[in-house]
Amino acid sequence: MEALNLPRPHWMTEDLVLLEEQARRFIAAEYVPHLERWHEQGMYEREVWTKAGEAGLLCATIPEEYGGAGGNFGHEAVINRELSLAGFDSFGAPLHSGIVAPYILHYGTEDQKKRWLPKLATGELIGAIAMTEPGTGSDLQGVRTSAKKSGNGYLLNGSKTFITNGQHANLIIVVAKTDPAAGAKGVSLMVVETDKVQGFRRGRKLKKLGQDAADTSELFFEDVQLPADSLLGTEEGQGFYQLMKELPQERLIVALNAVAMMERAVALAVDYVKQRKAFGKAILEFQNTQFVLAECKTEATIAKVFLDHCIERHIAGQLDTVTASMAKYRLSDTCGDVIDRCLQLFGGYGYMDEYPISRLYRDARVLRIYAGTNEIMKLLIARSL
Ligand SMILES: Cc1cc2nc3c(=O)[nH]c(=O)nc-3n(C[C@H](O)[C@H](O)[C@H](O)COP(=O)(O)OP(=O)(O)OC[C@H]3O[C@@H](n4cnc5c(N)ncnc54)[C@H](O)[C@@H]3O)c2cc1C
Repeated sequence: MEALNLPRPHWMTEDLVLLEEQARRFIAAEYVPHLERWHEQGMYEREVWTKAGEAGLLCATIPEEYGGAGGNFGHEAVINRELSLAGFDSFGAPLHSGIVAPYILHYGTEDQKKRWLPKLATGELIGAIAMTEPGTGSDLQGVRTSAKKSGNGYLLNGSKTFITNGQHANLIIVVAKTDPAAGAKGVSLMVVETDKVQGFRRGRKLKKLGQDAADTSELFFEDVQLPADSLLGTEEGQGFYQLMKELPQERLIVALNAVAMMERAVALAVDYVKQRKAFGKAILEFQNTQFVLAECKTEATIAKVFLDHCIERHIAGQLDTVTASMAKYRLSDTCGDVIDRCLQLFGGYGYMDEYPISRLYRDARVLRIYAGTNEIMKLLIARSL
């Protein structure tokens, strides 16, 4: 699906072109035939993860010594784009590989890395990150989940909501207060292996506007006794700093998703308007249709150029929080607008669930909300003024 007339970006090396082909083939054969069923049943199967692991699609940026593919963010970007172009936006792999695993790689002890990363790479462990609580989302310092020293370890109490991979995850990074009086400095990241603890409970898989197959859920921790080495790293109170360091990549992943969704929307709309007829001619022949699609294609192209700039900077280790926030906010906003306008060209069919444009419209809405709302992105950008 090449909807835009852009040359291959500089960051896209030969091995990434091969990875793109391999990922595209695998996703088309193994996932696409089941997407409809997964959307209908509101969940995809556990084996989706192990299959992704076997195909080398998990933990692409994790060094080979820890079971990953030893790539850079370009590898992650290629895989995520292919998932999105194929319409599998509800798969939690981008979060698992691009968010959860890097926390462990960057802040875990050698023992934690050896214990968890190889299993995340195979899909034996499925990762989630639990920040949001019923009472607090944007204001992360307000989390009430606590991890109190208890014996040799910690006692974890609290509840989380809206957690991606919530039903499948068995390795959950939980944002908790180890010192409730210390504000941001009292926040720590606790890693919970759910199969090994008592007192952990999964709540509802939440019904949502879109991403029907995603197992976004509530999670409950009631007197969960954790071993001492559940603390990510060795020092308490580092959680907020760790989150701030990793969030630019999370935001870039959302921006990437937004661009892939726009590309797909434009391609679907162009295809449709060439075939559908009204007043004796193809819808494409109306000047309005041509202008709308010319505008959408232009918006998507500008978005992709900025995204590629950000990816290149990120691969070079130079993507700052402000620029990542700009990408997340602007590209997800543009994505919503482009998909909405493309959908309009489908008339009533655009409103029908069986038309992928309808699902794209629903699935894309959350891009403006999660990974920090777009309002929070603007706050971060404004601080640089
Ligand atoms: C499908 C889905 C998946 C998710 N996955 C995860 C996950 O895996 N892990 C996780 O931890 N969370 C996850 N989230 C939660 C998501 O990150 C939060 O919903 C988001 O951060 C917003 O928090 P909130 O819902 O509490 O909204 P609130 O913080 O209550 O915000 C409500 C409104 O107020 C605005 N607002 C808040 N503060 C300010 C301010 N200072 N200035 C201006 N406006 C402000 C917000 O922008 C928003 O418009 C997910 C959410 C969804 C919908």
